[in-house]
Amino acid sequence: MLMNMEPFSLYLHIPFCQKRCTYCDFNTFAGFQHLIPNYVTALRQEIRLLVASTDEHIPVHTIFFGGGTPSLLSTEQFQVILNDIQIGFEVLDGAEISLEANPGTVTLKNLAELRLIGFNRISFGVQSFHPQDLSLMGRIHNAEEAIHAITWARQVGFDNLSLDLIFGLPGQTLARWQQTLMIALGLKPEHISLYALTVEEQTPLFQWVKRGLVEEIVDDLAAEMYEWAGNQLEQANFTQYEISNWALPGRECRHNLQYWKMQPYLGIGAGAHGYLRGQRMANTGWIGDYIQRMDRTDQFEFPLSPANETHISLEREDEMGEFMMVGLRLVQDGVSEKEFSQRFGQSLQEVFGEKIRKLEQRKLLERNQNDPDRIRLTHYGRLLGNQVFIEFV
Ligand code: SF4
Repeated sequence: MLMNMEPFSLYLHIPFCQKRCTYCDFNTFAGFQHLIPNYVTALRQEIRLLVASTDEHIPVHTIFFGGGTPSLLSTEQFQVILNDIQIGFEVLDGAEISLEANPGTVTLKNLAELRLIGFNRISFGVQSFHPQDLSLMGRIHNAEEAIHAITWARQVGFDNLSLDLIFGLPGQTLARWQQTLMIALGLKPEHISLYALTVEEQTPLFQWVKRGLVEEIVDDLAAEMYEWAGNQLEQANFTQYEISNWALPGRECRHNLQYWKMQPYLGIGAGAHGYLRGQRMANTGWIGDYIQRMDRTDQFEFPLSPANETHISLEREDEMGEFMMVGLRLVQDGVSEKEFSQRFGQSLQEVFGEKIRKLEQRKLLERNQNDPDRIRLTHYGRLLGNQVFIEFV
């Protein structure tokens, strides 16, 4: 029996994009859309193999198609994948079924179809409503297209929408960021994710910054943008529940909570990652290799699949550190001492007491006054999260 069959989450990675954005270092490829039909066949095969590798009928409470640009798949392609999932797993009533969508790739008609086949949440990669920001990022959509996409999604019955925005862009002023956030709020999403731009090596943006072609990012300004946005969102009845995520009451992303609470999830598709108590799996990232691996017929034991490039059995110390690192991202809940000891059979104080005390002294961690069982980041600690996380890994 798998951990009393706590519900799983399924993540399906769709590594195709029309064009590569200038800041992106995700596992995604532009110019390979001709491989989508074969890729869908391979995804279906991975689902079948995973299901066949266990006698359990695994309960699933969230399904998330991420990318890349999942919205490049046709409704028919999503439908067959979702059917396979319905047949192979026990998809629980009220399951959250999310799609990441690029606003430049959806129409009123296809959004209506997606709603009909069972999607109940969309996360739109809006990033900004300002033309200069969008052009710098190399996004394929403009602000009007993003507004249309969100309006259409509402029109066809999506009542759970999330918008992703990026701040701290080169050349972005506070006023410009404020304008983007106010437009986003005006569209009344249930959920907003705000990400500080990180300039990753191997991206065109990194080269531009290095050569002085675009302005360096000013950390203090980015911090001011984050603070301002947090206050604004709070006034609009949003609660910050994770370092980068805000939601209206009850609209937190259940799928992502699964990651932050280190509950089990299966990653399906090229570059997808999975986790099941003590084990971490990572699939090969390259689409061609992934498709080829799905032709293999040898048997794998659940939760492994022929797509796995790595499979690590985590040491207990590593797992405890990770539990802290992801749990502390939850800025309201943080980490529960009770949950920690139930899970690891050792008290949190015994394992990390010294580190926690030091971080409390530095005003980066605090005990939740309303629930003293929980340790969480302080308001100040939210800005310096990485300094806290590094202490536990
Ligand atoms: S759409 Fe998303 S995944 Fe695709 S290149 Fe742009 S940022 Fe990367």
